[in-house]
Amino acid sequence: MCRHVAYLGPSVSLRSVLIDPPHGLYRQAWAPRYQRHGTVNADGFGVGWYAHGDPDPARYRRAVPIWADESFPDLARVTWTGAVLAAVRSATPGTDHGTAAIAPFRCGRWLFSHNGVIDGWPASAARLAAGLPAGALLELEARVDSALLWALVRDRLRRGDTAAAALAGTMAALRAAGVTGRFNALLTDGQVIAATAAGESLWYRSCDATVTVASEPGDDGPGWAEVADGSVVAAAPRQVSIEPLATSDTDGRITVS
Ligand code: GLN
Repeated sequence: MCRHVAYLGPSVSLRSVLIDPPHGLYRQAWAPRYQRHGTVNADGFGVGWYAHGDPDPARYRRAVPIWADESFPDLARVTWTGAVLAAVRSATPGTDHGTAAIAPFRCGRWLFSHNGVIDGWPASAARLAAGLPAGALLELEARVDSALLWALVRDRLRRGDTAAAALAGTMAALRAAGVTGRFNALLTDGQVIAATAAGESLWYRSCDATVTVASEPGDDGPGWAEVADGSVVAAAPRQVSIEPLATSDTDGRITVS
């Protein structure tokens, strides 16, 4: 499965968040330490970040392993930001492989990533798609389970949910529809980070004016805390809250009651 990370805080280089940490996202592409499913994340990578004074994020996505992009370290060294969300991908079988299928997905100021799988996709997802407003399916960026999950979350954001409520509500809707899978989601608007731990590893570090939420710690330094499976996180600098999701079984997989 994929690995993802989001950072909020004082302006830093993309490199210092993604590449420099000894076990950061860059290294997690080939040597993740806490990944429960899959071994490498070589099916592409994506970075979304917010430039000073512009609420809408920029994205850089490539359908190659992050280590194979010779330009990315340079780009990451000179690009500074106070808010970033990035992912390395291990594609679920049967999904698109192009750039459009690679997180982060975007809508307006929102960036979204999914670490996991919708079991039985795409057949199982038909039940979920039926609940979406007409047109939402046409907005899917790619034929991938994560894009459908993003459509469900985005629909709730449009209806006024907070980031954490949109994720928790989507998890409840999946459960109500009898759809199983692993649903670690990561969402930001550059001001707050919301995330779910639902079948895969999730950690956070809140330190002074910075907060990082990641699939796994980027270093062995102090301050990292693991998020219990079946939780939703709402995080901003100096402010992290963790609530239980409605229901998950002992494996953390969202289940049908
Ligand atoms: N299902 C998503 C994809 O195919 C996420 C995969 C993952 O977490 N490895 O991109």
